[in-house]
Amino acid sequence: YMDIVKLRNSLNVRVGGLLPPNPVCSFAHFGFDEYLMEAIRRSEYEKPTPIQAQAVPAALSGRDVLGIAKTGSGKTAAYLWPAIEGEGPIALIVVPTRELAIQVYQEAKRFCRVYNINVICAYGGGSKYEQSNELQNEGAELVVCTPGRIIDLVKIEATNFLRTTFLVFDEADRMFDMGFEAQVKSISDHVRSDRQCLMFSATFKQKVERLARDALVDPVRIVQGEVG
Ligand code: ADP
Ligand code: MG
Repeated sequence: YMDIVKLRNSLNVRVGGLLPPNPVCSFAHFGFDEYLMEAIRRSEYEKPTPIQAQAVPAALSGRDVLGIAKTGSGKTAAYLWPAIEGEGPIALIVVPTRELAIQVYQEAKRFCRVYNINVICAYGGGSKYEQSNELQNEGAELVVCTPGRIIDLVKIEATNFLRTTFLVFDEADRMFDMGFEAQVKSISDHVRSDRQCLMFSATFKQKVERLARDALVDPVRIVQGEVG
């Protein structure tokens, strides 16, 4: 037990919530399959970042997660890896902007290459027709999207929130800054209620707290480093 306390201190991680899983100090301890391990090796990452060290075991154990850590701390992989290891059928990753959607999509492709997991990117400004076709024809397994566009695509039945078993809200603080509160709430309310849900943010905000209360069930709450 003291070792876990020491490890959390050295990672500068504070953890709340009921019985939070232990953090790990190396990729080998995640228990990922060999394909994902190979993709990580190719990235030449030396070890998990502190937020990954604590959030990945929590997510792999099936828990909902609220993760707060500053920009550049490796939050994307902290939810992509558990999403990739999950059963599906659909992992839905909601991000505030088109630029971020493309960036997360590219990182997902990098880790999914060896699996043939179908990754789809759906953002406002892109062709709704093309995105709809991709969703329907290719059997999306990992969908990176902006809030308004995924709601539109569900409305035209290009995809279905009831098939989403793994839901991520990334950059929750920015999502609210950009006025996506109603859309985010609507997504949270319509995705099947027994989904696993992860939320990440670079800052604490009252609205982030409120969404966490509404969207997450018994979350593991992780704060890494100094955050605003
Ligand atoms: P955040 O979402 O917290 O702002 P990102 O997920 O964008 O951070 O990651 C920031 C950078 O760190 C990216 O270039 C990413 O490839 C890199 N990175 C992620 N995980 C690791 C790791 N375990 N070791 C080294 N670099 C990493
Ligand atoms: Mg990020």
